[in-house]
Amino acid sequence: MTGYTCPYCGAKLKIDRARQKAYCEYCHSDFALQDDTVTPFDREKEEKDRENRLAELAAKRRARLEKLTEEERARRKKWLWISIIAALIIGGTVWITAGKMIRAARHDHDKIGITVQSMTSEEDSNHSYIYFDFEIRNDSKATVDYIKVSTRMKDLNGKSFGTVTSEFGSLSGGSVLSLKPGRSTIEEVYLSENTKLMTQFFQRIYGKTPEDLLIEQEILYVRWSDGFVYKR
Ligand SMILES: [Zn+2]
Repeated sequence: MTGYTCPYCGAKLKIDRARQKAYCEYCHSDFALQDDTVTPFDREKEEKDRENRLAELAAKRRARLEKLTEEERARRKKWLWISIIAALIIGGTVWITAGKMIRAARHDHDKIGITVQSMTSEEDSNHSYIYFDFEIRNDSKATVDYIKVSTRMKDLNGKSFGTVTSEFGSLSGGSVLSLKPGRSTIEEVYLSENTKLMTQFFQRIYGKTPEDLLIEQEILYVRWSDGFVYKR
């Protein structure tokens, strides 16, 4: 390999083979050494290329970041919708449950009590009558339109001899009963009929007072005036 000369000033170039570079000590020019030829280093072009490469990298990074942001935005939007829907579902459930609890609290059938206050027996030439005076206590917070109650009669030994079902109010048409929270006394008449069981029932109950019997009552059905219903 012969010595290289500087294309600018003709001076002998200093060679750096390892870095494939040449340098003119006379005019201070740099050259690239490639395939036995020396090419002047275009410092401006090098600088420009480097800048371009950097700009390209920056643009790539920016595009990647933008894409990430876009994905993030989409993800956030999705989560926002999921959160809104979940909040609506939870809120709705709480609302409905609370509403039910409030309604149930207003319509507690355990707050309705029915007791037989007195029984009066009467007879004419054809029939036997027994008058029951029921006292209905409505301590629920809503007005009651209809009640169905079963009254089981037992003797003092606890032996049952009959159950009567009484209805107060009417299911259809105008309500007979409209029991605002408070007390009310309702009278019911039982008329003896010529059936064996009814006759027996009357015989057992005739001339007795509530104190002579064990009377168990159970509420079977309640309809409040706002439409809320309890069914046993
Ligand atoms: Zn030179």
